[in-house]
Amino acid sequence: MFSALERPNILTALSEEEYDLLVIGGGITGAGIALDASLRGLKVALVEKQDFAAGTSSRSTKLIHGGLRYLKQLDFGLVKEVGRERAILHRNAPHLVHPEKMLLPIIRGGSLGMKTTAWALWLYDRLAKVVEHEKRQMLDADQTAASIKCLRTDKLKGGALYWEYRTDDARLTIEVLKTAAQQGATLINYCAFTSFHYNPEGYVDGGVLTDQKTGSSFDFRSKTVVNAAGPWVDETRLLDGRLKDKSLFLTKGVHLVVDHERLPVEHPVYFDVGDGRMIFAIPREDTTYVGTTDTEFHLRPERPKVSKKDAMYLLNSVNRMFDVPTLTIEDIRSSWAGIRPLISKQGKSPSELSRKDEIFVSDNQLITIAGGRLTGYRKMAERVTDLVCKKLGVEKSFTTEHQVLSGGIKTGAESTWPIHLYQRYGSNTPRVLEQVQTASDEPSELDLLKAELSYCVKNEMVLELSDFLIRRTGRLYFNRESSIQYLEELNQYLTKLLGLTEDEAR
Ligand code: FAD
Repeated sequence: MFSALERPNILTALSEEEYDLLVIGGGITGAGIALDASLRGLKVALVEKQDFAAGTSSRSTKLIHGGLRYLKQLDFGLVKEVGRERAILHRNAPHLVHPEKMLLPIIRGGSLGMKTTAWALWLYDRLAKVVEHEKRQMLDADQTAASIKCLRTDKLKGGALYWEYRTDDARLTIEVLKTAAQQGATLINYCAFTSFHYNPEGYVDGGVLTDQKTGSSFDFRSKTVVNAAGPWVDETRLLDGRLKDKSLFLTKGVHLVVDHERLPVEHPVYFDVGDGRMIFAIPREDTTYVGTTDTEFHLRPERPKVSKKDAMYLLNSVNRMFDVPTLTIEDIRSSWAGIRPLISKQGKSPSELSRKDEIFVSDNQLITIAGGRLTGYRKMAERVTDLVCKKLGVEKSFTTEHQVLSGGIKTGAESTWPIHLYQRYGSNTPRVLEQVQTASDEPSELDLLKAELSYCVKNEMVLELSDFLIRRTGRLYFNRESSIQYLEELNQYLTKLLGLTEDEAR
């Protein structure tokens, strides 16, 4: 039941059945809760008003952090938890979460010193229980310059290598949702939660859902409701008119994508920009992406934009750090902006606000989870689901620690599959290849793309081309030219797969 072709049946189920739990929001937070709760045997539904992961969960830096930044805040407990989570995610989704070395260059006049960095990373390795071959390595200036050859060397004092884990945020969200669907959860995209219903005691017991594709609304029943709407959690709480105080402070973070040959970093770099902030430069396919910014955001979170000021801040930072011909606005191939749903605290600047999650329970028993990070989604889900079980009076102690995610099974045949497909679909790759519709032994790029699209419609609920090109494959960011080249063919094929008339497709 995670197929776009099943949409009518999913809508019928949502309108007719009563659920134990409704999750509002199909980002990583909601996805994690839906999976944890369905594994505990609860009858779960999740609704997402846009596409799955279309909010912040496709707009991050795409790293499963080891918690180094929490060391600066002396939050040793969190460093430990996050380090452990990273190892668990790598084990459960090896196709999507993999280690890669990261260089921290140390420059004269910068905020990092050789001794403090060496000490901090030493402590971090121990707290986060970093495996032996991923422990930090301190480098002198020559070794640092050899590690990333396009670095400017005039101010270089040295550097440190440590390991971060790379991921694809949107695909991780989709694989968690797919696993939840396999466990019986009912999930739908393009369907918004639009108002609450209450039982005679005044507790939330369902609400109204609105199909964004047709505009039709229907009633929905659920014993508990969790608001995991990311940057929209306050807006959702406002729907019942009882939001006492604002819980969120929104900040915007921007990433730019340039051709790899214009910023040819051999592996990821995390560098000092001189204003107390740090920026990543991360190679991916034939590109390098750079980010991020952190500025207050007061507009609607649906379509955050990259301003010229954001772009210039990042380009200037790169131009100061790297010895490459000056990067300009014309070099930007694509970009994205994401909104951080941070918990507000008076008197703190955006960068000082905690990235920790918090759970709020309203008087009407609506459970809201806000803040947090991609990396901690599993533990966040555990805490929320514990609370849901308590409210339902169900005793279920449980852990998703050993739950392999969809695509995460090791088969031994991985090396025989196209690498770009394996890195997206993992052990589901043969099912993607089954969709290839050519008699030729060597399918063309378009044949493979159509096979992927077909698989994603039938198994990942793709309804629009942007769902496929942005959130299922990342192609519009990292392989823009070929996506644009095949746009028309793919659009026609999607229309056919969904069985739409030309009018409906428009
Ligand atoms: P979202 O992904 O925004 O999901 C909420 C969903 O709820 C949305 O899809 C929205 O459409 C839906 N929704 C809202 N209202 C309704 C409604 N009424 N009905 C139905 N659906 C609704 N974390 C990391 O661990 N590593 C990183 O490298 C990292 N980098 C980041 C970089 C940036 C620039 C930003 C902004 C964040 C970064 N984060 C990172 C943090 C991480 O991305 C977020 O914490 C996480 O994605 C939040 O997920 P979420 O599910 O809570 O919110």
